[in-house]
Amino acid sequence: MDVVRSKEELRAASKAWRRAGDRIGFIPTMGALHEGHASLIRRSHSECARTVVSVFVNPTQFGQGEDYASYPRTLDADRALCEGAGADLLFAPDVEEMYGRAGAIEPSTLVRLESLEGILCGRSRPDHFRGVLTVVTKLLHIVQPTDAYFGRKDYQQFILVRRMSQDLDFPVRVQGCATVREPDGLAMSSRNRHLAPEDRAKALTLVEGLRAASAAFRSGVRNAQELVAQLRGPMGKSRNVEPEYAQIVHPETLQPVSVAEAVTVALVAARIAGKVRLIDNATVGEGVV
Ligand code: AMP
Repeated sequence: MDVVRSKEELRAASKAWRRAGDRIGFIPTMGALHEGHASLIRRSHSECARTVVSVFVNPTQFGQGEDYASYPRTLDADRALCEGAGADLLFAPDVEEMYGRAGAIEPSTLVRLESLEGILCGRSRPDHFRGVLTVVTKLLHIVQPTDAYFGRKDYQQFILVRRMSQDLDFPVRVQGCATVREPDGLAMSSRNRHLAPEDRAKALTLVEGLRAASAAFRSGVRNAQELVAQLRGPMGKSRNVEPEYAQIVHPETLQPVSVAEAVTVALVAARIAGKVRLIDNATVGEGVV
């Protein structure tokens, strides 16, 4: 597996593969890779002739006071994981390579999806999704994959990227992949490594709420308010868990519904012990799988 740092080297490799007619899969990440990322890489490897992974901690999607500086950076381990999961190329640019100057705040052009960027995670992170959509646009233009793989773990992000790519005719298939969990159900996240051992049980209250809401749905509850109460229950009972939101929404528009259907999505976000912000979600008809 090759590791490249410049857009130019990446473009050269990708151009040769496109000329050969290869299907190219792409997985954008911020590194600190775990089994969740590995599952995306393996899926791409099984569907595409070539797989590209990017590792770039994107400063423009972090707000003031968020964890940009402390976000885990583990490139040697990331490289081994990518290679083991079947990646052909790892793109690891620095901020200057991506944005033209070190310490750049933002490029002059931004991609925004106004109707979806200010809700759910966008309420507490107002500039987050324009940072995500802008960097994903840049990465898709640099790599020019046929397929791009995103985790449903970050459900809002997946929906925004898919909508952007449809709205703006990006020539790529945006593929959604199932959330990979720890044996106890905690959704894998690079931020889990910041959880102190005593905070782990608190972190589990997110998935417990999702399980409770889908169990209620399966036992016949359709009223969204009742489902939200189930969703919030475990977080509400635990000290040092500050729920940020718990919502039952339409799978595409992300707007709250009053009556749930099988495809309706439950989403939660909470801050654990005042520091680690976690998110999770599940389709109510499927539950936590
Ligand atoms: P990140 O490095 O956190 O930006 O994530 C890169 C990609 O991996 C995104 O598409 C995430 O949704 C996906 N991802 C992160 N955690 C998981 C997980 N536990 N299961 C599946 N996909 C994940």
